[in-house]
Amino acid sequence: MLNQQETVMNKQKRFKIQGPCAYEFDSGNTGSWRIERPQVDFETCVKCGTCATYCPANVITIEKDKEICVDIMWDYCKGCGICANECPKQCITMVEERCGK
Ligand code: SF4
Ligand code: SF4
Repeated sequence: MLNQQETVMNKQKRFKIQGPCAYEFDSGNTGSWRIERPQVDFETCVKCGTCATYCPANVITIEKDKEICVDIMWDYCKGCGICANECPKQCITMVEERCGK
């Protein structure tokens, strides 16, 4: 019979195995179904990289030497809003997607 510590470790192992599968799914081109996109207030941003760390699609790059320091790969961003939720300065706002504008 497993003790509590072993049960937790087994759950963690299963979680790690699922990670690459989710990553493969997220890495596809988003297409036209995204309904919101993140908009960064670069004057408030402190370039901490928290948004990049939490983005499940791994599409954010922090460029500390540039004024527009948060670079998002729009073709792959899912519009999930996790970056906006996790930003400690609350400088990411989810705005309505406007295709072709
Ligand atoms: S909205 Fe989601 S997918 Fe897009 S940059 Fe933010 S965390 Fe990444
Ligand atoms: S989490 Fe917020 S403050 Fe940090 S780099 Fe991203 S947008 Fe800037």
